[in-house]
Amino acid sequence: MGYSPEYVQNMTQLHRRLREHPETLVTLVVGPDDLCAKFPETQPCHCHDATVMQRDSAVRQRLGVQTGETYHWSDITQRIQNHIVASDIATLCRTCSWRSYGVCEEGVERLHNGEGLVEVPDAVDETTHSTPKAKMNI
Ligand code: SF4
Repeated sequence: MGYSPEYVQNMTQLHRRLREHPETLVTLVVGPDDLCAKFPETQPCHCHDATVMQRDSAVRQRLGVQTGETYHWSDITQRIQNHIVASDIATLCRTCSWRSYGVCEEGVERLHNGEGLVEVPDAVDETTHSTPKAKMNI
């Protein structure tokens, strides 16, 4: 899954940072975020598509979070546990082309089961950060 090897590597690093450092501070942004930093320049950007904005807005409302605000990742996962169940993905993310892979439902299930984020293969070099931070578009 992913748009390019570089995109996958960046996503893997961010995912690992959040998994291993739940205290990571995450600032919610509108439009491209840290995941999009490695989006291939040869492909059309879709971060401002209406369907993306609608999905992001619906999830923000459900979680009670706002763009421009910064949260600990652990706070966001707690809000997911409190306000979202796996079956919500079918409606909240109705228009998402990635939904059919099933990994997002699985991710929500894991949070509810206290398992946290799934461990990803050790395919990339890890960069250590003494003050972990990330910008995410939710
Ligand atoms: S299905 Fe997954 S990737 Fe798609 S919008 Fe929902 S959470 Fe994001």
